[in-house]
Amino acid sequence: MSYKNYPMVSRIVFGRGSLNQLSDIIEPKRLNTKAPFIFLVDDVFQGNSWLTSRIPTAYDDTIIFISANEEPKTSQVDELVEQIILSHKDRPSGIIGIGGGTILDLAKAVSIMLTNEGEAKDYQGWDLVKTPAIYHVGIPTISGTGAEVSRTTVLTGPEKKLGINSDYTPFDQVILDPELTKDVPKDQWFYTGMDCYIHCIESLNGTFLNAFSQTYGEKAYDLCKEIFLDNNLSEEESQDKLMMASWHGGMSIAYSQVGVAHAMSYGLSYLLGTKHGIGNCIVFDHLEEFYPEGVKLFKQMKKSHNISLPQGICANLEDYQFDIMIDVALGLVPLWENAIGKHWNQVITREKLKALYQKM
Ligand code: NAD
Ligand code: ZN
Repeated sequence: MSYKNYPMVSRIVFGRGSLNQLSDIIEPKRLNTKAPFIFLVDDVFQGNSWLTSRIPTAYDDTIIFISANEEPKTSQVDELVEQIILSHKDRPSGIIGIGGGTILDLAKAVSIMLTNEGEAKDYQGWDLVKTPAIYHVGIPTISGTGAEVSRTTVLTGPEKKLGINSDYTPFDQVILDPELTKDVPKDQWFYTGMDCYIHCIESLNGTFLNAFSQTYGEKAYDLCKEIFLDNNLSEEESQDKLMMASWHGGMSIAYSQVGVAHAMSYGLSYLLGTKHGIGNCIVFDHLEEFYPEGVKLFKQMKKSHNISLPQGICANLEDYQFDIMIDVALGLVPLWENAIGKHWNQVITREKLKALYQKM
């Protein structure tokens, strides 16, 4: 048995208002005055001086605002890299992503593609990246995905939705400032927060479970219950704890895997463009059979926060469309192995997945 030797985020700051330290943190990493820092920022913050006035630009540093309405694409990464190369003489000193999973994943991918030849789609998979990425910093503004801590950047390419999983993907620096999440809309807070909850359920109930994953997963699971069920935390406590739950949930799946909800949600995302957080919720709502206790609590959380999920999103689909989703889901072999075990394909048939999708 050979155990995986994973890299981790090398430096991390935690604290409300810690964004104010960004300049002190990155300035020593400036290579020269012509090598800029590029800030990739969720465009929800465009015109928001509370946040943007604290982005420390000097010399040729550039802020690029990016919409998070759609999940990142390999072509979008390639375009950003080209834009950065064409508009600056020197290779950047660093890439700083400020936003949710969408922007964090773009920041990771762009930092990799600035030092590696070819197109982003060539690197979708496991350990295909040859050259270390340039210095990259992640600053989450919404909590749940674990993208701030993970070894992957999930991209939709021409042929597949698959991450660039590599030792060079994790951030060199993360700034966890829970105050940045204060204006997240309620529904989105729930969907992205549930991504963390579902990471815990899938990791803790998976066959890949080990003490490493379990300790992180249990902590994140307890935090999620406190945040989404107890309802007696202050807003600040809730923001702080969800940011740490996201971190622990991400660490939990680093050394195990996700499961049924993620496999099926990738199918929805590929065919219908359903975003990760809400897609996981739509699927998980129908997975009592696989995660009875987890789904029961999920329904309580939904009720307690008055969340109504979209219904009937697969109602008018044709057979060939179900087939596309089923192919995507079945392609994610490690997720099924984790969820069901080695002989998963005796249980998970195309008919079974179709019947589940038809309920959504
Ligand atoms: P997101 O980044 O897509 O953002 C969701 C919405 O919230 C957007 O409209 C965004 O503008 C808004 N938003 C973000 N911060 C805000 C704030 N502070 N105030 C107001 N609005 C704010 O959401 P997400 O759920 O964090 O990320 C989903 C993405 O993460 C997907 O692309 C998914 O594939 C990816 N993901 C990656 C990993 C990984 O390990 N790399 C893990 C899970 C998910
Ligand atoms: Zn997820």
